[in-house]
Amino acid sequence: MTKLYTARWILPDASSLIESGAVAIEASQVIAVGSRDELVSQFPKAPVRDFGEAAILPGFVNAHSHLELTAMRGYLECEEADFFSWLRKLTIARLERMTPDDLYVSAAWGAIEAARAGVTCVGDASDAASTSMRALSDVGLRGIVYQESFGPNPNEAHENFDKLREKVAHLREYETDLVNIGISPHAPYSVSAPQLELIAEFAIAEKLPLMMHAAESEAESLFMQEGHGAFAENLAQRGIEWRAPGISSIQYLARHGILQTRPLLAHCVRVDDADLETIKGAGAKIAHCPKSNAKLGHGRAPFAVFIEKGIKVGFGSDSVASNNTCDMLEEARFAILMARGTVGVNGAVQKLNAEIALEALTMGGARALGFETRMGALVEGAQADMIAVALNGAHQVPLYDPRTALIFSSSGRDVLMTMVAGKEVFSEGRVLTVDEDRLRARMKEILKTVTSDWQESKVQSPKPNI
Ligand SMILES: [Zn+2]
Repeated sequence: MTKLYTARWILPDASSLIESGAVAIEASQVIAVGSRDELVSQFPKAPVRDFGEAAILPGFVNAHSHLELTAMRGYLECEEADFFSWLRKLTIARLERMTPDDLYVSAAWGAIEAARAGVTCVGDASDAASTSMRALSDVGLRGIVYQESFGPNPNEAHENFDKLREKVAHLREYETDLVNIGISPHAPYSVSAPQLELIAEFAIAEKLPLMMHAAESEAESLFMQEGHGAFAENLAQRGIEWRAPGISSIQYLARHGILQTRPLLAHCVRVDDADLETIKGAGAKIAHCPKSNAKLGHGRAPFAVFIEKGIKVGFGSDSVASNNTCDMLEEARFAILMARGTVGVNGAVQKLNAEIALEALTMGGARALGFETRMGALVEGAQADMIAVALNGAHQVPLYDPRTALIFSSSGRDVLMTMVAGKEVFSEGRVLTVDEDRLRARMKEILKTVTSDWQESKVQSPKPNI
């Protein structure tokens, strides 16, 4: 059955605008976009849902998240000054304190938060990928869940790779029309070179999307360039030999085959011009996570240069452990303001406007995940992944241009409706697919588990391998 969704403004993509417009949906697809009058006469029997003073636009893409870590929101504030300690505390809490059901609830709660903020699609990195895939499916979002692989000891590369291959075989059964699997060698400091090469070959042979953290922190740069710092010391303590290659993370990933997989690279804070040319030439994509990078003190990724070079870039919240929200409108505003605030970026104010931000939030994110033929714009034949955002609040009126109002005045809390593949996931203040009240209560219980004493640990799991 055809349904019409109407609003004062329709933004089929970042550069087009229809006043008093409508979108016609049938099953999971957009079948027409145009003026309200045209579509009402074209589909006279279709029920009409009108959002009034609001914009209907493609759903937001969160190109880099860790939904299973949602329970860590606000848990690691004291460790933020030391990235290695931060990662270690997080990894131990996840592996040794959270049960499989805790991880499921944490991921589902993250998906709820995302749906409420207008996110229709995520690129999610997960150590417990089947759990995150289930959570995403239950909440009704689209996404790729990248199964993480760890292991800095080159002598264990084959063993670790075999484990990843087994996990991938098992994860195939969790794939749906909306949720796909990918793989993620965690980071250059946590996965050895031979393991990277095995994973890269596997990704190409199996046509699996690959995501990796890259060029994120000073500690990582020290590790790669000089062989010093917290990551190098950690390997030395574990008796793992590390000879710094003396090159950047991006060149290192190119050397070990990762760039050949056209990966999605999260962060890319510490990149020079040669690195960006390498990324562009390889057809790699970037998940730009400005709030996480700022909160952890990692610095600013050169977003303006990514755009100038025509690199495919989407925004990522990263985990809420380092953000502390998944609000892509806030992320986009922060990205634009941080980039404009960077001294020496010529013409940044003119180049980095609301349209650029909206493009990165929608089609940019779709390209980052390789979904650009399916979603990212409201066009005939695309998947009906769309949202309605109220634009009539005290913080939004008067409104000269809806794009400007969205990026510079609005937040995820203004989202009225989130739809994925034609199905409303969030509407009238409620997520419609799962029991939010039960999950909220469970999240409060998990807080107690995460902060409990070591001895009370319920789960026996392998030691962190970072
Ligand atoms: Zn991350």
